[in-house]
Amino acid sequence: MNDIILLKLGEIVLKGLNRRTFEQRLSANVRRRLAPIGKFRVYCLQSIIYVEGAEGSDMDAAFEALKKVFGIVSLTRAAACEKDKDAIAKLAVEYLRRDMEAAKSFKVEAKRSDKAFPMTSIELSQYVGGELSDAYPDTAVDVHNPELTVHIEVRDLAAYVHATPVHGAGGLPVGSSGTAVTLLSGGIDSPVSSYMIAKRGVHLIPVHFFSFPYTSQQAKDKVIELGRRLTEYCGKMTLEVVPFTHIQEEIRDKCPEEYFTLIMRRFMMRIAERIALDNNAKAIVTGENLGQVASQTMEAMASTQAVMSLPVLQPLIGMDKEEIVVRARQIGTFDTSILPYEDCCTVFTPRHPRTRPKLRDVEKVESVLDADSLVSEALAGLERIELNHE
Ligand code: ATP
Ligand code: MG
Repeated sequence: MNDIILLKLGEIVLKGLNRRTFEQRLSANVRRRLAPIGKFRVYCLQSIIYVEGAEGSDMDAAFEALKKVFGIVSLTRAAACEKDKDAIAKLAVEYLRRDMEAAKSFKVEAKRSDKAFPMTSIELSQYVGGELSDAYPDTAVDVHNPELTVHIEVRDLAAYVHATPVHGAGGLPVGSSGTAVTLLSGGIDSPVSSYMIAKRGVHLIPVHFFSFPYTSQQAKDKVIELGRRLTEYCGKMTLEVVPFTHIQEEIRDKCPEEYFTLIMRRFMMRIAERIALDNNAKAIVTGENLGQVASQTMEAMASTQAVMSLPVLQPLIGMDKEEIVVRARQIGTFDTSILPYEDCCTVFTPRHPRTRPKLRDVEKVESVLDADSLVSEALAGLERIELNHE
């Protein structure tokens, strides 16, 4: 039996002229994702991507991995046979044995994109339905509310039989919307914001600000682990670790305490923007969330963003913490995020932070620092870590 995985493309099907490029991008992402699992043939016909495994390849592992590839709206294991009604019926009886025995009721839904096939879709559905009924007399036919829908697709190269598809990760293929820098702390929020922007087809460069020895090696390892988990969705990424200690000490020594966090965040943005420009990235992604902490009021965000010109993407801005937590659990980052290591944001935290800062005042208290040379120094000390999902 010819076991195969069929991937249905989501929104990209709608994108007219861009369709071909999107399909190629997604096929390439699928190939890359499957490379560590085994040998697979991946090809796209009529907006469906077909994945065939070589003899002995792990189709279960491939299927699990493909559930996390953006751009796929649904996926299903299927079996292929020649385009002949009896071959199709025989395959359906054999291939769907477990599904047919488990279900109380079923119907057959046939589709043919090969219009040369001698039966109409309805005739084929009825024929295969009859054969299945004979083989599994305990499973009733129910065309209105069946427990199991048997799908038959008569396509270009072959006919395919499969049960109900499962939902894919949705979104757009990573890389099709360009590149952005994402600020990745060890918290719950930023892995989720990264995931959400990657889902819209953006290749991400994660940047982490590291304040050794105020924050520990374990805190850095935690961020590496979060980044690694994200690669299952985002593909390979390079984490940029920015040495942030000197900047934070300068702020602590020279600026009024209530401005510490604000000024620190302005430095994060300056550095992130420089990394973005060096890598042709077009935006900065953060896990900011309106009102969550003092630095996430509208006034505070305005004073942070005043140092930069790239757009700041904040996909969590209007979500409640609970909604963010649900998402973090779903994508598998939550358990790592709640490990108890400190973040550089919690070093030198002001007791009474400014929540409604005036830009003029922030600029004035910050002017005692030599921002350009502090930024250059930090960039000179960047550490790059390759993240992959193996
Ligand atoms: P998170 O759960 O993502 O840590 P948070 O609620 O703790 O978010 P803040 O600490 O104020 O919020 O940070 C807001 C955003 O700034 C984070 O979501 C992240 O994008 C970025 N950020 C904070 N600290 C760091 C860091 N050490 N390195 C990189 N980015 C950071
Ligand atoms: Mg944080």
